[in-house]
Amino acid sequence: MYYGFDVGGTKIEFGAFDKQLNRIATERHPTPTQDYAALVETIVQLVEKYDVKWGGQGTIGIGIPGSQAEDGTVLTVNVPAANGQSLRADLEARLGREVRISNDANCFALSEAWDEQAQSAKTVLGLILGTGFGGGLVINGKVINGKNQMAGEVGHMRMPIDAWLRLGDHPPMFDCGCGNKGCLDNYLSGRGFEQLYGHFYQLYQRLRLSKTTERVNPMQWHLSRAFLMCWQCL
Ligand SMILES: [Zn+2]
Repeated sequence: MYYGFDVGGTKIEFGAFDKQLNRIATERHPTPTQDYAALVETIVQLVEKYDVKWGGQGTIGIGIPGSQAEDGTVLTVNVPAANGQSLRADLEARLGREVRISNDANCFALSEAWDEQAQSAKTVLGLILGTGFGGGLVINGKVINGKNQMAGEVGHMRMPIDAWLRLGDHPPMFDCGCGNKGCLDNYLSGRGFEQLYGHFYQLYQRLRLSKTTERVNPMQWHLSRAFLMCWQCL
């Protein structure tokens, strides 16, 4: 039995698989993004529930939107409760077995690379657009993590903000949880779309009050700006 957890910024997707990798059970739970104890408890309870149900101990793999530092602590922006925590060690202590944790985009890219459609491809880049934006790189069937576990992690690449500024445009400068500004993760993602909408809606309201754009349809105006930025991201 294999247990797979996809821990995202919004939900935890759980799947149990038999030895032939057929999915035989699935559950979805909200991610306790601000409560580390609740996050650990959600995972532990699912494992214990299916251990009892199937009469054995399954092996556990977890995908998270982030990475693990050399000391085993988790680095993640989208699940703040787990950031800086020793999630693997804490789960192993509770469950009495090895727990493996990897970047979710790496897991996704590896899964796609091993599937029939992509088996002939030497290099596979997987891109995920969810609460955040990330990627994973697979070469010759193996995940390329890089020295800092960031190879293929395109979500924290900086957009061409500086070029826009030099061209006289004034793009919104969103702070990223990694400490930088202008990361793709804060624009080309569910959270990014919300931020862009909020930014351009407020901008539109200011322009409307100044009576310079009274004939502009607000929805059309700020959506066109948001989609223009997303298009430039791509
Ligand atoms: Zn970043």
